[in-house]
Amino acid sequence: MSNAEIGLIGLGTMGAALALNIAENGFDIAVWNRTTEKTTAFHKDAGDLAGRIIPTETLESFVAALKSPRAIILMVPAGQAVDDQIAALRPLLDDNDMIIDAGNANFHDTNRRARHAGHQPFLGIGVSGGEEGARFGPSIMGGGKREYWDRVSHILTAISAKYKGAPCATWMGKEGAGHFVKAVHNGIEYADMQMIAEVYGIMRDGLGMDNAAVAETFARWDKGPLQSYLIEISGKVAAATDLRTGQPMLDVIVDAAGQKGTGRWTVIEAQHLAAPIPAIEAAVVARNLSSQRDARAAAEVMFGAAPHRIAHDVMPLDTLEEALIAGKILCYAQGFGLIEKASAEFGWALPLPAIAEVWRAGCIIRSAMLDDMAAALREDPERNLMMAPKFSNMMKQSHSALRQVVAQGALHGLALPALSSGLAYFDAMRTARGTANMIQGQRDFFGAHGFARVDGGSGHHGPWGA
Ligand code: NAP
Repeated sequence: MSNAEIGLIGLGTMGAALALNIAENGFDIAVWNRTTEKTTAFHKDAGDLAGRIIPTETLESFVAALKSPRAIILMVPAGQAVDDQIAALRPLLDDNDMIIDAGNANFHDTNRRARHAGHQPFLGIGVSGGEEGARFGPSIMGGGKREYWDRVSHILTAISAKYKGAPCATWMGKEGAGHFVKAVHNGIEYADMQMIAEVYGIMRDGLGMDNAAVAETFARWDKGPLQSYLIEISGKVAAATDLRTGQPMLDVIVDAAGQKGTGRWTVIEAQHLAAPIPAIEAAVVARNLSSQRDARAAAEVMFGAAPHRIAHDVMPLDTLEEALIAGKILCYAQGFGLIEKASAEFGWALPLPAIAEVWRAGCIIRSAMLDDMAAALREDPERNLMMAPKFSNMMKQSHSALRQVVAQGALHGLALPALSSGLAYFDAMRTARGTANMIQGQRDFFGAHGFARVDGGSGHHGPWGA
């Protein structure tokens, strides 16, 4: 039987949800998983959708179940597992059969796989939205040859999230463009999450608020300019109770953040491209530092806990909200700045407004601001987002709150790495005459590197030996 329109390999959290989503949208799908019991259980639990799903036990029967030319989605862990799976599949496939890696691949790997795909097309697509997104509508960022995307775009747009009816699935460019955009999405996600966690820390340790008050505050903010998935779930996390102990859930979760690498890749790539994304870098560093629990405990004993408490009139909740608004704009501005730089460097012509549009629904960083960001990027994709009229007005209104929060955090020993980095980025960006003249003087002093003069010309040297 070879009648499935598409196939999927890897029935883990994301793959299972994506397969059900595809079936629910009316496409017959063949599935295969390394561990066969998972395939059997998945099909058994698929309920009404089971009729559209063809479970298979061998790769051969999986391939045979697909309509030709075939299209096969891989949803396995990024890295070697993808290469191994491709190597196992290729001999079973015909020319023109397409492999689509939908995991969180490093875009360099996607570039390589696309280049070595030969006559078997390869697409790399970034899928965001976690399990729920995969099941009911993710945001999809496609990369590879446009004609390959066009072959499966009817399926990918059908299963994607919709923002006011518009599908959140777009072709970003050739080779690894989709996975690159997904990585930057995750970088922005890291920074946004870190800023929210820092504000939570101010509420908990600075203002002495309990979890219920924190939850209520996030829920209120979710009705204003900060409205976003991450603010919404932060409120829900703060409101949850541990079923085992009856304690607030947040109080029983260890304060060491996990990561799978996409934030780190974003930072590494930004360094290669000399693109400034300090808030995202600070968020990755904060996760690394969070895992050093023993060292932090020892340092607290050695130096004593910081004097965290802040008077409520010094730090009203409205000021915190304003600070987070400024921080959020800066996260996105840095992320889009990186995308713009990569677009030029790699010759990708990445569609910045369309990227903002596909992030409006389905993905983890969806937020009320993204619609206005898409409009601002449509007006001028090269302008720093914080300087677009809508956002420059918001920054003018909110940067002093960010300054107030960062200053009070410093005075009270509250670590605010992402908020502080965001503020430093803002201040550096709005300083026409910076301090790198000193750096250039130093470089010339010890290394005769030369400098440009304000009155013209480059390659000048100072009178250091005179
Ligand atoms: P998961 O729940 O751990 O599932 C992994 C799947 O891959 C399982 O079906 C597993 O099969 C299979 N697998 C593992 N190693 C394999 C190998 N060497 N060869 C063949 N199959 C192998 O992972 P997931 O969360 O669904 O993530 C899948 C991909 O999506 C990753 O790239 C991840 O980064 C990305 N992603 C995840 C999320 C998320 O929120 N979880 C969001 C976006 C993107 P077995 O049953 O045999 O172990």
